[in-house]
Amino acid sequence: MKKAGIIRCQRTEAMCPATSCLKVAREGKGMFKDVGPVELVGFLTCGGCAGKEILPRVLKMIEKGAEIIALSSCIVGNKPGGKYYPCPFLPQIKEMLEKEVGNKITIIYGTH
Ligand code: SF4
Repeated sequence: MKKAGIIRCQRTEAMCPATSCLKVAREGKGMFKDVGPVELVGFLTCGGCAGKEILPRVLKMIEKGAEIIALSSCIVGNKPGGKYYPCPFLPQIKEMLEKEVGNKITIIYGTH
């Protein structure tokens, strides 16, 4: 079983218990379907707009063994039914992650 970390939107944290993210990670479903069930080494927020804590938190989770980092559905806005809109900083966040850690880990955009 691979190890993974999830980054979620700090604004969504105020109302979401992360049940669906935790379920798909545990069961290897949703956006985890290609990697299978994972062991979570961390589940952290972006640190608030404009995602300023993402990179240090991703690096810490990699240090703790994460081979996969997933940005939650509340960040990428891919929840079926279109309930969420994407984080307005997503293009910059994607570019930064691909540049800084894209050659070390698998990055998954979305969770459920
Ligand atoms: S930067 Fe994006 S993911 Fe983070 S709190 Fe703001 S809207 Fe949410």
